[in-house]
Formats: sequence, structure tokens, C-alpha cells
Amino acid sequence: MELNEEQRQMQTWVHGFAKDVVRPAAHEWDEREETPWPIIQEAARIGLYSWEFIQNAFSDPTGLTMPLSNEELFWGDAGIGLSIFGSTLAVAGISASGTPQQIMEWVPQCFGTPEKIQLAAFGVSEPDAGSDVSSLKSRAVYDEAKDEWVLNGTKTWITNGGIAAVHVLVLSVVPELGSRGHAAFIVPPGTPGIRQGQKFKKHGIRASHTAEVILEDCRVPGHCLLGGKDRLDERLARAREGKSSKSQAAMATFEATRPAVGSQAVGIARAAYEFALDYAKQRVQFGRPIIENQAIAFKLADMKTRLDAARLLVWRAAWMGRTGKAFENGEGSMSKLFAGETAVHVTDEAIQIMGGYGYVRENPVERWHRDAKIYTIFEGTSEIQRLVIARAISGIHIR
Ligand SMILES: Cc1cc2nc3c(=O)[nH]c(=O)nc-3n(C[C@H](O)[C@H](O)[C@H](O)COP(=O)(O)OP(=O)(O)OC[C@H]3O[C@@H](n4cnc5c(N)ncnc54)[C@H](O)[C@@H]3O)c2cc1C
Repeated sequence: MELNEEQRQMQTWVHGFAKDVVRPAAHEWDEREETPWPIIQEAARIGLYSWEFIQNAFSDPTGLTMPLSNEELFWGDAGIGLSIFGSTLAVAGISASGTPQQIMEWVPQCFGTPEKIQLAAFGVSEPDAGSDVSSLKSRAVYDEAKDEWVLNGTKTWITNGGIAAVHVLVLSVVPELGSRGHAAFIVPPGTPGIRQGQKFKKHGIRASHTAEVILEDCRVPGHCLLGGKDRLDERLARAREGKSSKSQAAMATFEATRPAVGSQAVGIARAAYEFALDYAKQRVQFGRPIIENQAIAFKLADMKTRLDAARLLVWRAAWMGRTGKAFENGEGSMSKLFAGETAVHVTDEAIQIMGGYGYVRENPVERWHRDAKIYTIFEGTSEIQRLVIARAISGIHIR
């Protein structure tokens, strides 16, 4: 149950960056509601924002590098953290569905170089297809004569949408097959026919860019279909015969990324817990520090207990994912569900412990509280995680 030396060193390294660079910049970028390019650049300069780092993380046999680094970075700030690690969602999409050649070609381009950084985006959600991923309306049609795919539709809520160099988008190829008729495509940098729609002003994680992505007769070469045409045709044939398919494009990505997203929520919760603990020891009311009241001390006890439980669920799911264990009881979903709800609970309690001082922008718990809320919504809402777990444990198709 102990981290090894290498993992501890990596943890200390990311923590140092989060403490010295990310946290001091958090308030400014939250207020600006803009992508913090200089901070991403700095992360690229030290090698944190790089495909080499992600490659090492993805090949760590324990699976813990990603959750460990996420926790530290998001302890620094979630909006900036997502600007730095948002590209990894696209990397996970490419890794889940791409051929080895596609992985080698596109993953480095998701990051660019320290001199010329690039971002990547992964887009599934649409205005009428959020939790219900099977109802995607965006279409990919094959133009056999030119060996090109023609993409049309609107994606919404896309992290780095429109500002990314590489977009990985899941579209419907055969609508009547629902999610089994979906496929993931790379839209390479500079492709005509893709543009950003509206950029959203958000409640939290405001340094992270979230926008619509609009596709209008966007043509991509045949080799931009992740996994290749033969594999797609095989999968579609199986689906038409009603045979089971191993993975659908979007689902395969989400399974692999849920513990990583959970660890981001753990980072926010830890930041708020530590801040509230310090505050409770210092704040004096009725002649004694407020922590001497059980009402406050017990809150902190519960916050710490939930925080540690969330981290353990995340680590277990990350380890299971890496070692190829089946998520028989929805363990990936459990980790994201519990960590997300823990972040909301802990940041809420942190404000309560700080009273009025917790409610104002000069203290970061107010921002952490806003940031935490997204973790019960994106990458599958809490309700959808419960649905996945309930179906897994019961074997019944609960609705
Ligand atoms: C800041 C931000 C960043 C995002 N980044 C990305 C991204 O990079 N890529 C991407 O593809 N998407 C992204 N998303 C989209 C996100 O994944 C969706 O918002 C999420 O899946 C929920 O979809 P929805 O918003 O349409 O809500 P809906 O699906 O409309 O859900 C509304 C409510 O109904 C509940 N509900 C729906 N169906 C059921 C059911 N069967 N049983 C019980 N309850 C149900 C939900 O839990 C929720 O409470 C992002 C969203 C946000 C806000």
C-alpha cells in the first residue's frame, strides 16, 4: 500500500509546480476566464505537459502515476489543471481506439513542443446527447471515391473545443445502430470545416476553455478514422447481426479516464480540507479555537475520512484499469462518483468552517467549491455512475 521511491519523487515534483506556479496564478485566471497559456507553457518547459510524461504515466504498471500527478496538480488549481491535463482525454481516446501507427502519429501532436505548445480536445457531447450518448446526431459519411470522411454536426461543452490543434470527435456512422454505430475521428490541425461555436461562461473551472465545436462538411482523410475502416466494418457487421461488441468509441475512453478524473476531485477536496483544518486551529471564538468544538472537529474528521476513502477508490480503479482487471462492480464509476461527491461535500464543509471568510473571493475555498461541482456532472453525471454500478452489481438493465 506504500508508494515507491519513483512515485514519491514524481509526486513531490508535481506538488512543487502546483504550489509555486499554479496556485499563485489560480485567482487571476479564474477571474480572467481564459486559457492560461503561459502556465501551460511553463508545464511544457519542465516536461509535465508533454507526451513523454503521459507515455510514462500510461505505461506505469501500477497505474498510479496519472492519479498521483492529477491530485497534486488539481490541489494547485482545477481550472489551470484542466487546461494542462485536458488534452489527456483526447490522448485516452486515441489510445483506446487508435492503431499503434495512429497513436504514434497523433499523440505527440496533442502536446506540440515546449516552444510551440498545442492542445487537444475530445468531443462526444451534443446539445441533444449528453448522458444519452447513443443519440448522437452528428454524422460521418464515407466518400469512397476520395477515401475521405465528411463530418457534420455540433458538439457542445467541449474542453479545449475550437482552440485545440487536434480534435478527437465521436460521430455516428450508422444512426440506426445507436452507440454501436459510432466511430471516433481525428480532425487534424488546420482542417477546413471545423470551427468554434459559443464559448461558455461557467460556474467553476473558469480557466478551462469550454465551447461548442461546429462541423460543416469537414473532410478528413480516411486514415483519420481511429482503428481503421476494416475494424469499423467488422464491428458494424457484428452489431447488425446483434452480436456483442467489445467496446464503443466513447465508452472505451470514459472507462479508462474515470479514475483519473476522480483523482482531480480528490486534489480539490484535499486543498479545501487542509485550508479548513489550518483555519479551524487559528480562528478563535468564545475564547478558544473553533476546532475545540466537536461540531467543527467532527466535520474535519469526516472530511478527512471521505477524502482518504475517495483516494483509495481511485487508486484501486486506476490499478485495475492498468492491470486489465474487469470492472465487474463498476469500480471505475464508483471512484469517480465518490470522489466527485466528496469534493462537493468537503468544499461545502470548508466554507461552513470558515463562516463568512469562506464565502468571499479573497479566500480560495469559495473557488474550490465552485470548481468541485463539475465533478458530479462531466465524464458521466453522478446519476449515470450510479446507473453503471447498479447494472454491474445486479446484472439487471436498470433505467
Ligand atoms: C465544463 C464542462 C466540460 C465538459 N467537457 C466535455 C468534453 O471535453 N467532452 C465531452 O464530450 N463532453 C464534455 N462535457 C459534457 C458532459 O460530459 C455532459 O454535460 C454530461 O455528460 C451530462 O450531459 P448533459 O449536460 O446533457 O445533461 P443531461 O444528460 O441532460 O442530464 C441532466 C440530468 O438528468 C440526469 N439523467 C439523465 N439521464 C438519466 C438517467 N437515465 N437516469 C437518471 N438520471 C438521468 C443527469 O444525471 C442530470 O442530472 C463537459 C461539460 C461541462 C459542463
